[in-house]
Amino acid sequence: KKRNPHQPEFVQAVQEVAEDIFDFMADKVQYHEQQILRRIAEPDRVVSFRVCWEDDNGSIRVQRGWRVQNNNAIGPYKGGIRFHPSVNESVLKFLAFEQTFKNALTGLPMGGGKGGSNFNPKGKSVREIMRFCQSFMTELYRHIGADVDVPAGDIGVGGREIGYMFGQYKRITNQFTGVLTGKGLEWGGSLIRTEATGYGAVYFLANMLAHKGDDLVGKTAVISGSGNVATHAAEKIVQMGGKVLTLSDSGGFIHDPDGITQAKIDWVKEHKTHRRGRIEEYVAEFKSATFHEGKTPWGVPCDVALPCATQNELLGDDARLLVKNGCIAVSEGANMPTDLDGVHVFKDAKILYAPGKASNAGGVAVSGLEMSQNSERRAWKEDELQQMLKDIMQGIHNSCLTYGAQSGGYVDYVKGANIAGFKKVADAMLAFGVV
Ligand code: NDP
Repeated sequence: KKRNPHQPEFVQAVQEVAEDIFDFMADKVQYHEQQILRRIAEPDRVVSFRVCWEDDNGSIRVQRGWRVQNNNAIGPYKGGIRFHPSVNESVLKFLAFEQTFKNALTGLPMGGGKGGSNFNPKGKSVREIMRFCQSFMTELYRHIGADVDVPAGDIGVGGREIGYMFGQYKRITNQFTGVLTGKGLEWGGSLIRTEATGYGAVYFLANMLAHKGDDLVGKTAVISGSGNVATHAAEKIVQMGGKVLTLSDSGGFIHDPDGITQAKIDWVKEHKTHRRGRIEEYVAEFKSATFHEGKTPWGVPCDVALPCATQNELLGDDARLLVKNGCIAVSEGANMPTDLDGVHVFKDAKILYAPGKASNAGGVAVSGLEMSQNSERRAWKEDELQQMLKDIMQGIHNSCLTYGAQSGGYVDYVKGANIAGFKKVADAMLAFGVV
């Protein structure tokens, strides 16, 4: 806290990891001597820059952009770009720190980074978004590269924005390389990248249930968010026999007791992504649902919960309510959606609880596969990629079991993920000496 006085999200993320790592490190002198935890928690560099663009009225706007390159011990920096007014250095440092462990867990050679801007894409015209993306890349291009740092999408950055940024990178450098992931299929993108984070979070959930001899058939699910991760998590829950009761956005949540079917999910995708609409308009379309303004969905009784919107959207009291209402499993689609109090509630109740760095790693895993395909200059088939995604999620589940299995059959997935991710990065750093 003293080193990072105005960075609460970053301090929270480091604290959560440190709580688990201290025990693990107790008898491992080399990690202490080499100050490994402290070194991982100090980004290799933070680049902060001005992003200047012209709006449709001809006024000049000035925004701030960042790229946090946290750690490249096991591969090029890799992590998304976020455009949202809440973006600041603390948020991006926490995301880059988490990303380092998540990427290590996938088993693929990727280091950790994150970037973004406090630019708010809401209410902007397509041309304004294009001009902003071009200006953002005009500075970012000098810090990234296919073997250096490979950004992707995140909140507010989807296929369209990746297209504008890739186009600008190509124009400036005259190079067509795999410098960004999440690209369109015609220009180097990978099949199932769009679906991978949401699908992966549900595969992870299914793995946790299967370890207990259970499955998703007939289970009710409460999901927050209605963007990329939330809608694809909902889709996979439905495909695996579950019933989705809620979705949300920053305006509130909708509760549909009849279940949010595939046809309804398709409507939400079209409405939120292409029409840029609000989730509250769902209730005019589907009469079985109710809208709850300004609220999160955690009070709706359910078997499983998937927070898929943003950080710190599920607080201690929400966690207590979920447990009280009989929720048996939580799989995080978003990054750090549960605050530290909530994490302790889930751990104390000994329910199945997967932290985002384990359960939402499917997206970056398929991004890693996109990088491989770009290097090979070929595209793999959908069924090959689906199988690779399933295998990677199962591999992460197994890593969590290795380091998180406790007496009495309880698995502490947070501890398992933190130790497995840390060990891989730490051992690589030890090999490099003090650098
Ligand atoms: P999108 O921009 O597609 O969707 C974000 C959703 O979350 C929207 O429904 C948005 O509502 C809601 N939301 C955003 N901020 C807030 C807020 N402050 N309060 C309430 N709701 C909010 O983003 P993604 O689905 O891609 O990302 C969601 C989460 O998943 C993030 O934490 C991201 O870091 C994480 N993640 C994403 C990956 C990916 O592959 N896309 C990979 C791994 C993690 P509204 O429309 O009102 O803004």
